Amino acid sequence: MDTWDYSAFWNEAMNQFSKELSAQEYSMWFNIEYDSASQDSITVRVPSAFYKDQLTKTYQSAIESKLFELSGKKILIEFIIVKPESLEAPTKPDGNAIGNSQKPVAKGTELKEKSITPKTRERHHQLNRRYTFENYIIGENNSFAANAAMAIASNPGTAYNPFLIYGDVGLGKTHLMQAIGNRAWNLDTQPKIICISAEDFTNDFIQSIHGKNMPSFKNRYRSVDILLIDDIHFFENKEGSQEELFHTFNALYDGNKQMVFTCDRPASELKNLSDRLRSRFERGLNVDLSPPNYETRYAILKKMAETQKIDIPAEVFEVIALNISTNIRDLEAALIKLSAYAKLVGMKITLEVAQQQLKDVFSQTKHGNITIDNIIRTVSDAYKLSANDLKGKKRTRSIVMPRQIAMYIAREITEYSTTELGLEFGGRDHTTVMHSCQKIDAQLKLDPTLETKIQKLIQTIKQISIKG
Ligand code: ADP
Ligand code: MG
Repeated sequence: MDTWDYSAFWNEAMNQFSKELSAQEYSMWFNIEYDSASQDSITVRVPSAFYKDQLTKTYQSAIESKLFELSGKKILIEFIIVKPESLEAPTKPDGNAIGNSQKPVAKGTELKEKSITPKTRERHHQLNRRYTFENYIIGENNSFAANAAMAIASNPGTAYNPFLIYGDVGLGKTHLMQAIGNRAWNLDTQPKIICISAEDFTNDFIQSIHGKNMPSFKNRYRSVDILLIDDIHFFENKEGSQEELFHTFNALYDGNKQMVFTCDRPASELKNLSDRLRSRFERGLNVDLSPPNYETRYAILKKMAETQKIDIPAEVFEVIALNISTNIRDLEAALIKLSAYAKLVGMKITLEVAQQQLKDVFSQTKHGNITIDNIIRTVSDAYKLSANDLKGKKRTRSIVMPRQIAMYIAREITEYSTTELGLEFGGRDHTTVMHSCQKIDAQLKLDPTLETKIQKLIQTIKQISIKG
């Protein structure tokens, strides 16, 4: 084997220097990158010969002793010059560029033969290329899980084993698990990875029994460096698969191989699972993903639109983020629907288009703490009236219409009955509420601008209700 990975020591050494040196000194001189390693050296990429000289003079021995402290091994540093504009394709080093005068010549030669282009492997057929950390927005709902995932991806099998991500549908479990796979796939160690759903694992298991291929099945799953299994709740009531996974787990665990699982609930709630397998899942680190808040939803939509090259104005992100708070899959579905519509009819996506196209989606989602008070306050503010005007008995035209609009909105976006609404609006009869809603319905047909006005009001009401 000639693959050596000292990147963890390197990263830790850099981490410590960043704390020990001034920010200015660190950012000035540590503009350097781990490239590769041999048994007793690390090759580091630097942007110019000048850097190389300065680093050799000033920092090389400090870096080497730090690495010695961390690893207990004597690891030498070799600098290689890679011009910043071509970090991917380093220039051929001149005579002095590799190694330095203190190093034996043989070492320099050895390095020259090595490919210094970062190795990218052919893509892994089970990993979705879109599911990367770069495409994953971190918010308060997922930052713990995401940070743990990144740590695991850089050093699989060393900490947090197994790693179990749980949470409701559409909150980003699969994405996060595959992001670990995608990042680890390009590690210098070139780990062997299997990424599979619990369902496919089960099918594979059943087929192997039928085809009498169990030895190869066992070998396949027990020889990986990283095993990623999605939706392990599927294993409930599948005793055979559970049994097989239990043994696979033990083999991988003992070999310090990384395992990552996702589940739609905490492992403790997997009732139809053997106790011993459940207790295996509960080892290591279990973290949950919760629904994202408004700011995170907004950021996710923006990121998705960017990645998918969908041209959408900010106010549309706003209205979607306000109206869809259930999960990220629903956000994505809304975006895809809009984009498909816009393409089909050859239109730009505007606020009006969004409100029109997503009307049904919006009305299905629950709006938690919308109160009649919020509605009355928002509508009366918009028409420069007081809340008491809307609740009171005055029948002047400037009051009647906003009052009817408030009732109409309350009927549209809350679960209150007309009787309850009548009481909330100053003790009116339920027929008054019904009449008001009919009036507005009729008015909507006559006045095309009214719809937009009402939608704007609804948006404000939800904003107040969601942001608290
Ligand atoms: P789960 O597995 O929990 O049901 P997924 O991982 O399939 O959810 O996520 C649903 C969709 O939302 C995917 O398209 C995924 O890329 C996207 N997604 C989830 N979380 C994020 C996030 N934090 N940032 C960006 N996109 C996300
Ligand atoms: Mg999933």
